[in-house]
This record gives sequence, structure tokens and C-alpha cells, in this order.
Amino acid sequence: MALSYHLKANRIFNNWRKIAWIFVPVIAFGGLLYPRLGLLVGLIMLSIMFLGLFRGKYWCGNLCPHGSLFDYLVLPVSLNRKIPAFFKSPVTKWLFFIFYMFMFTQRLSNVIPLWGSTLFLDRLGYLFTRQYLTMPTVVGLSLSIINPRTWCSVCPMGSFGQLMYKLGKVLRINGNTDQKVTIAAKAKCHRCATCARVCPMQLEPYRNFNEQNQFADESCIRCSTCVKHCPANLLWMANSANGRRITQNVDLEGFERRMPLQAVIEEIKPLADNVKEYTFRLVDPVEVDYNPGQFILVKVSAEPEVYRAYSISSSDLKDRSRLKVTVQRVPGGYGSGIIHDQFEVGMPVELEGPLGNELVVKGEAKRVLLVAGGIGITPFVPVVKALLEGSNSIVDLKLIYGVNKADQFIYADYFEKLSAKSGKFEFIQTVAFPDEHWRGYRGFVTDVMKQMDLEGYEIYLCGPRPMVDAALRLIEEVGGEKGISREDVYYESA
Ligand SMILES: Cc1cc2nc3c(=O)[nH]c(=O)nc-3n(C[C@H](O)[C@H](O)[C@H](O)COP(=O)(O)OP(=O)(O)OC[C@H]3O[C@@H](n4cnc5c(N)ncnc54)[C@H](O)[C@@H]3O)c2cc1C
Ligand code: SF4
Ligand code: SF4
Repeated sequence: MALSYHLKANRIFNNWRKIAWIFVPVIAFGGLLYPRLGLLVGLIMLSIMFLGLFRGKYWCGNLCPHGSLFDYLVLPVSLNRKIPAFFKSPVTKWLFFIFYMFMFTQRLSNVIPLWGSTLFLDRLGYLFTRQYLTMPTVVGLSLSIINPRTWCSVCPMGSFGQLMYKLGKVLRINGNTDQKVTIAAKAKCHRCATCARVCPMQLEPYRNFNEQNQFADESCIRCSTCVKHCPANLLWMANSANGRRITQNVDLEGFERRMPLQAVIEEIKPLADNVKEYTFRLVDPVEVDYNPGQFILVKVSAEPEVYRAYSISSSDLKDRSRLKVTVQRVPGGYGSGIIHDQFEVGMPVELEGPLGNELVVKGEAKRVLLVAGGIGITPFVPVVKALLEGSNSIVDLKLIYGVNKADQFIYADYFEKLSAKSGKFEFIQTVAFPDEHWRGYRGFVTDVMKQMDLEGYEIYLCGPRPMVDAALRLIEEVGGEKGISREDVYYESA
């Protein structure tokens, strides 16, 4: 079953967002008993206007009690579907805003004549309470079944904040205070759409960065969800000046040769349960120059536009007219699901690349340790070949390859043959949960690393995040005494 495009990812990054929802029942229901509680809504409106002037819809993504209710309590039970186009339409938003403000000022005009009497504050508080209870609470909660933030697309208070933001821009007073989502380098973006898939407002930052690398959509609620979830760690919240600094300080090594590649699927080979190797024959250009250890992007769908990153797993390094990638199906995964179920031999496919430099072994390396977990073995297929056939400096090359069960090894014969041919290369396999037939190492890759003298090695890691983190921790623990510095360790998470 394909995973829903929109992800129920964590959107709560501080304690205020965990508890702010409490204000909703306190004001919406408490205000019915003690109407003056409703006056807090007036304060909220003033805050939205003030913050709007300087920071756009920051209130909605960081301080709003309803936002906290939707993102913290409702998200886990919401269907989290696509927000209907009707609610995302600017026409709906501004017509609703005009209607809402008309109704509100009419009701307010009934209260204003009471100014000076003891009834005034009670009636004003009650008016605010009613607005707060009916609109964002009852209507907002009903719409949140489709998607938690459906209401936020049309919320008149959010629109008010947006109007104030426009005013701030005209007055040129929010240049320093306005923090927008900023991408450090477009050339490094995986076009994986994760920023769009986790966005509560269902915006698409990765398709809409401006010349300054900033996402200037006024509907952005500055919630930082995309920033926290970008797998390439490319996103920041920054004003224009900081944005410029971020984009100027990016190392683009390994990304300079990025280009679109048109290809045709030539072969699909199953390698293990849920793992298939895909051979792409290049059509335009007909050849590509890449470094072993780099990866490419494979387009998995056009609308929404989604690519997936896969390490180049070609073993024939002389043939530059073909690229191989090896894809493991992630249970419920969007992209790997499409590749496994819909990619067929003869199909045209759009690629981008080559990309990356983390796993490209430096030319002068003498002693190299490669550590792979699960599908993280793929970049090392060309890397080992290149080091054994092309490098004169290598004197010692080790590859530790760990999986959970012995039948999950791929390319083991290939590495065994290379090891048998070369005295410089040692291939070590380890199984975390072996059966009684397994005769090799038992345990995780870090268990094997603990038994080794790591001194003098350049270390390259590739695998699932927990494996990479555990290996980095181990290297940190023993690194100092073995003379391994952080500069000798390179890693990428598959
Ligand atoms: C440089 C690089 C190289 C890579 N090389 C390879 C390779 O050679 N082979 C390979 O198989 N893969 C590789 N990957 C991983 C690959 O790019 C994809 O991430 C992988 O195929 C899964 O994509 P997907 O669309 O199927 O999964 P997605 O749908 O994107 O899911 C991805 C992750 O999101 C999590 N997720 C799922 N649902 C939710 C939810 N509701 N909320 C929050 N999170 C959720 C999943 O647990 C999963 O871990 C590489 C990645 C990188 C960055
Ligand atoms: S989440 Fe993916 S698409 Fe979005 S900016 Fe990061 S790498 Fe690019
Ligand atoms: S684009 Fe990013 S910061 Fe803006 S609303 Fe979406 S997830 Fe939040």
C-alpha cells in the first residue's frame, strides 16, 4: 500500500506549542461562563496584527493556541489529506475575510454604544468568545478531520496578519525581522519534496525558492517544520542579510557537474527480498562522468514533482553510458514503492546528477575503512573497484558490511571475488541476528569496529541513521587515543 503523500511529521519544537492549546477550551468555553475571559481574544488579535507587521504569519506557526491544538492533538487522528483547492484559493480566503470582518464590525457596532456602562466589557468579551468558539474552534475542528490546518488557509485572523505584513513591506520596516525559509544551495537540493510533504500548510518550498534562495510565499506560517525535516539539512529560517551569508558560505564540491540526464531502463534485476538493481542507459547526454561514491536523483513522479536519491552502484567503471542504482523498498515508502511497482524495462526515466562528495574517497588515501549497513553498501560497489584498480596510494582497504539477517546480503560474491584477487582488500561480513548456520561475525558493524585498531584509517560510513550515529559515537570515544580526528571520517545516511 502506498504511503500518503503528506506526512504526519513532528511539528512541535518547544514546550509552548505543547501546552498552548489549553487556551482554546479556557477561552471558548470559559468565556461562556465568564464573558470577560473573551477579552483575551482581543489581545490575541492585537498580537497577530503587531507580529504580522514584522514577521508575517509567525503567530500562526508558533504561538497560536488553535495551531497548537491542530498540530499537537488533532494531527495524530486527522486523515491528513490534501487540503481541498476551494480552501486554498486566494479568492475564498479574501472573500471570507471581507464577509467575516463585515459581520464582526456589525456585531461590534451593537456593543460600542454600551461604552462607559458596566455591561460594556461583559458584552465585548461575550462577542469575542462567540467568535472564538464558532469559527476557529467548531468550524476549524470540523475541517481538521480532512487536514489539521484546513481552517488556517482561510482563517480571517491569519489573513489579517498577512495584510499587516503587506503593510510592513510597503513601509519597509520588516526587512530585518522577517525570517523566511532559506535554502543554503539549490544545487544541493535532492528535490525529494520532504519539505512539501511535512508542511502543515501544504506549500512547496523546494519548487519556489526565489533568486535570493528564499521562500517568499505569504501563506508560510514560519513554523520551521520543513527546516527540521529536510534530509539534506539545507534549510534555515533567516532574514535577508543572514540568508545572503548562509548562501555565500556553502561548499559545492561534488555538486558542480549536476545536470538533467534522460535515460531508458535497460534492466531490472532482483537482488534480494525487496531489493532490485536498475540499469539506466543514458540517452541525453549519452555518457556521464561521475566519481565512485556519488549519487543520482531519480524522478518518481511528475505531479507532485518528486525525486529520490540513490547511490550509483555500477561496477563497470569504464562504461559511462550506463548508471546502475540499487533500490530497497521501504515499507509504505512513496518513492521506492513507485520504483518497485511501476518502473519497467524500456521505460524512459528522468535523472539528475552526479551529486555528492562525502563518500568519494580522497585520491591520496592509504588506509581506508568502509563501513556499510544494509542498503548502505551500494556506493561502495564502485568505490572498492576504483580503489583497487585505479589508486596507487592504497595499501590497506577494509569493508565491514552489516545486515540484520544473513539473506539480506547483496553484492557479497562481488566483494569476495575482489578480496580473493587483491591482498590489499579485506571484506568482513557481520550479521546482527544470525541463525545457527551463520559462521561469520555476529553483531553490529560497531561490534566489529571495536575489535579493530582504527589508527591511521580514513573512515567512510554509509547506512541507516542509527548505524551511522552509533559508529560516529564509537569513533569519537576511541578516536582521540588512536589519533583519528573528525576530518578523517566521512558519512552519508541512506
Ligand atoms: C545520498 C543518498 C543516497 C541514497 N542511496 C540509496 C540507495 O542506494 N538505495 C536505497 O534503497 N536508498 C537510498 N537512499 C534512500 C532513498 O533516497 C529514499 O529515501 C528511500 O528509497 C525511501 O524513499 P521512499 O519515498 O520510499 O520513502 P518515504 O515515503 O520518503 O519515507 C522515507 C522515510 O520517511 C519515514 N516516514 C514514513 N512515514 C512517515 C510519517 N508519517 N511521518 C514521518 N516520517 C515518515 C519512513 O519511515 C522513511 O524512513 C539514499 C538516500 C540518500 C540521501
Ligand atoms: S526537503 Fe528535499 S526538496 Fe526540500 S529543500 Fe530539502 S532536499 Fe530539497
Ligand atoms: S514552508 Fe516550512 S515554515 Fe512555511 S509553513 Fe510550510 S513547513 Fe512551515
